[in-house]
Amino acid sequence: MKNFSNFNDYSRKEDLHFESRAIHGALGNDPFTGAVSFPIYQTSTFRHKGLGQSTGYDYSRLQNPTRQELERTMAILEEGLEGFAFSSGQAANMSLFTLLNPGDHVLLTDDIYGGTYRIGEDIFTKYGCTFTYIDMSNLEEVKANLTDKTRMIFIETPTNPMMKVADIEAISKLAKSVGALTIVDNTFLTPYFQKPLTLGADVVVHSATKYIGGHNDSIAGIVVVNSEELAAHFRLQLKSHGNGLAPLDSWLLIRGLKTLQLRMDRHNDNAKKVAEWLRTQPKVTKVFYVGFEDHPQYDITLKQTSGFGGMISFNVDTFETAEKLLNNVDMIMFAESLGGTETLITYPRTQTHESLKEETRQKLGITETFLRISIGLEHPDDIIRDLDRALNS
Ligand SMILES: *Cc1c(COP(=O)(O)O)cnc(C)c1O
Repeated sequence: MKNFSNFNDYSRKEDLHFESRAIHGALGNDPFTGAVSFPIYQTSTFRHKGLGQSTGYDYSRLQNPTRQELERTMAILEEGLEGFAFSSGQAANMSLFTLLNPGDHVLLTDDIYGGTYRIGEDIFTKYGCTFTYIDMSNLEEVKANLTDKTRMIFIETPTNPMMKVADIEAISKLAKSVGALTIVDNTFLTPYFQKPLTLGADVVVHSATKYIGGHNDSIAGIVVVNSEELAAHFRLQLKSHGNGLAPLDSWLLIRGLKTLQLRMDRHNDNAKKVAEWLRTQPKVTKVFYVGFEDHPQYDITLKQTSGFGGMISFNVDTFETAEKLLNNVDMIMFAESLGGTETLITYPRTQTHESLKEETRQKLGITETFLRISIGLEHPDDIIRDLDRALNS
């Protein structure tokens, strides 16, 4: 029987499968009332019983029971020590980059999310930090760019939007050999398909706006760490920046997590069908999808993940075709973001990767004929029919 009295009386539920852990969270129920849906503790502050007697909660910027339930659940799912929930993926990454000291060097994925690029280039260069953008799918390139100043290796895998895959285990080993931290942005696959901390990474970061929330209704970020030292850093950041996730949004994410497995499985199935269909289209010149057997890093994907996710990028023959497609989709929406129930198509050149230099975009292949699609949970035939009509009629 459960002892309904103490917020710290929770277990990591190691005997349960992933989906059961995601549904039952850390505490799962409200310790006071037994409420099956964990309550939204919509309060800014907490009453003290007496001098020097805290309930463990003093002020919601520091700790809030709803946010804590989400943070603990994410730590359980990522198999880490401690989790932190931020007001956005960007807020999570800002708090991560404050690990840097003046003069530190960082290696990052070359087609990194535009917002992450901006944090480095537009904010941290002023503290004398330097950033090198490399193809993380090439281990030789990783090795060649490590310096005695390298403090962090920041990996996105699969990358956004070129779908390149990095070997997390091999890169983590290289990072350790020079005393650098390995950070993995796990937004695209979630812990259901990929658990970077179990492969040697030190920090996992998420834009939880995407698959974790899963319904295109909330902006949020998550960090999970594997050491007490890193946990202390993020605790201080949350307390000082005041960028913790609000109770209502924390609750939306707790609810999102309960169906994460079902949603990811369906995103995965739908994306496979759409990717295969796109490949047969005369106006589509190239499809970037990690689930293709001829994807250049297919073997690494099979080694470190248990699914391919719901993201596809592709090239069409001309700019006019790209424009026509974006203007004519009907059920599918031309909108930024990804990972939700609705299928969204984006134009990375002027949306997610607008901050990059034009020369860099060209080199990466983020050209005027390049599109990215986040496959939602609609019927796959409807997604394909909508694309077919917008592309071919
Ligand atoms: C969206 C996104 C971010 C930024 O997260 P926000 O929640 O929008 O602040 C960071 N990394 C990746 C891979 C993303 O897709």
